[in-house]
Amino acid sequence: MHIALVAHDRKKEDIVNFATAYKAIFQDHDLYATGTTGARIAHATGLTVHRFQSGPMGGDQQIGALIAENRLDLLIFMRDPLMAQPHEPDIIALLRLCDVHNVPVATNLATAEMLLQGLSRGDLAWRNVVEPEQTSE
Ligand code: PGA
Repeated sequence: MHIALVAHDRKKEDIVNFATAYKAIFQDHDLYATGTTGARIAHATGLTVHRFQSGPMGGDQQIGALIAENRLDLLIFMRDPLMAQPHEPDIIALLRLCDVHNVPVATNLATAEMLLQGLSRGDLAWRNVVEPEQTSE
């Protein structure tokens, strides 16, 4: 599975702890992240993480592009609900694309844990039969 991880600044410690706790699951999958989140996770866990731009510099949109092409199976997005973000439109667009393409997305730790446990049980195996969408070319 292809999994993306994003965390706003005050949630970065949470996502690092989460990635550490679930390293045994994450290590069997392809991981993507926005720049700083990915660096923090890779440094703390040793996991291989493909890093995009930092969120405010376009990283959310790069992850959105993966979703638009049906190349992402799960998004863990620890957003900060108590602090305004300069790239709020990108955040809304990213979550919207998850709904458009039916990609499981967690925006808090409680849901992230449920998704990871489901992933390890094989509950997301249906994603393997979702074909990348045809483009017009
Ligand atoms: P970052 O981006 O991982 O590069 O900090 C996340 C964000 O703030 O959207």
